[in-house]
Amino acid sequence: MDEQRIKDAPPVEIQHHGVMALRCAGCGANLEVDPEVDHFTCGYCRTPQEVVRRGGIVLLKKLGDAISRVQRGTDKTAAELAIPRLEREILELESKRVRDLAAPVRVRDRTRLSNAVIAMVSGFAIFFFVMIAMASAGRHDGLLIYLVWVLWIGCFFGSIVGYICLRSLRHGDKAKAKAQRDKAINAECEREIAKIRDRLAQARAVADAH
Ligand SMILES: [Zn+2]
Repeated sequence: MDEQRIKDAPPVEIQHHGVMALRCAGCGANLEVDPEVDHFTCGYCRTPQEVVRRGGIVLLKKLGDAISRVQRGTDKTAAELAIPRLEREILELESKRVRDLAAPVRVRDRTRLSNAVIAMVSGFAIFFFVMIAMASAGRHDGLLIYLVWVLWIGCFFGSIVGYICLRSLRHGDKAKAKAQRDKAINAECEREIAKIRDRLAQARAVADAH
């Protein structure tokens, strides 16, 4: 309560029947207050108030004022403390985002394609072995050797093509998985940061309030 109002306050009239004539701090209504009473609520405007007695002056003071001033002071201090913490939280989220985006992406294997490539490589190895075995056994059956060579070359190039296809498919899978993962990381990070920015704006508003 300001000192000016205390100085300007009219002297209290003690009525002949023992009540004080006071002015409501809320609506200004003339009230008759029992001198024994410390706290009461105005019957007109429902403002809770206390009877303040200081240096021979008695007047009414809104209870809400004192409480909300203390509350505002507490809020202000809390807000001032919260601001650097919230700013730090945003920086931490940003660096976490950078770390998460840099982490390697895991993709599931294309098992069927892998198996096909393994089968082709095995086939290539088996025919190579058969060919070597036949050559060393001294059999020079022209058609058979020719067939074995054709199969061997087919398997050999089949393996290479299969391997390249698998590589590029895996590469595509990885790029797609990374794009998807990065999108999720960014969305999550933006959401968290937006939440903190809201709290930061609130804290700044409270800290700047008088
Ligand atoms: Zn009132």
